[in-house]
Amino acid sequence: MSEDIVLTEAQFERYARHLILDEVGEAGQARLMAARVLVVGAGGLGSPILLYLAAAGVGTLGIVDDDAVDLSNLQRQIVHPTSRVGVAKVESAERTLAEINPEVAVEAHSFRLDESNAAALVAAYDIVADGSDNFTTRYLLNDVCHRAGKPLVAAALSPFEGQLSTFKSHLGPPHPCYRCLFPEPPPPDSVPRCVEAGILGAVAGVMGTLQATEVLKEILGLGESLSGSLLVYDALRTDFHRIKLPRDPACPTCGAG
Ligand SMILES: [Zn+2]
Repeated sequence: MSEDIVLTEAQFERYARHLILDEVGEAGQARLMAARVLVVGAGGLGSPILLYLAAAGVGTLGIVDDDAVDLSNLQRQIVHPTSRVGVAKVESAERTLAEINPEVAVEAHSFRLDESNAAALVAAYDIVADGSDNFTTRYLLNDVCHRAGKPLVAAALSPFEGQLSTFKSHLGPPHPCYRCLFPEPPPPDSVPRCVEAGILGAVAGVMGTLQATEVLKEILGLGESLSGSLLVYDALRTDFHRIKLPRDPACPTCGAG
């Protein structure tokens, strides 16, 4: 169906640096424009994800977040300007993205993702980017994406470190899911969130930008998927390393059961 998209003159200009790449070209740009991506959380990770995916011309961006912009968010949540303190994050993000690229359709979901709504929401998109900051959402998305057969690009942050992987366990072995790595969430309150722990804002920017890159790669079928590897960024040592993630046959989500 993406082959039906005919680029306008303005689109040829806007996406010229994509179109000139043999690996993207008109067919790739048409795929991006036909793609539907759900971004969970319009915060520190969600901001760069949304900005880059909108700029790239991803046709439809769903944003789910139930929070309002707070002054203390602005140190890292770069999709929100100072003038929107107090505004719902989904609305603030939608307004910024309309300025970046008015061709992108934004679907704002101003509620908290939970077990009652996650499956229906995920079903409406091709791929999910997890920019949430809590384990409940992370595990819920892992399980829902596995069942729905949707790739999940997930990142996590600590004050000076980030982790990133892509999960495509629905494709079967050797692809792992998040529970293959950590079968159960840690006890509540054992891991502090940004809100309590603090974070160097740009670390969120690095990880969210890597997440956006992996989402674009998955849509375009470019290069090597991150599925099966966990990328760890250590900002203090300026070091990236990859850890192999094996699929666990006894995994409660993707194992043989
Ligand atoms: Zn698993």
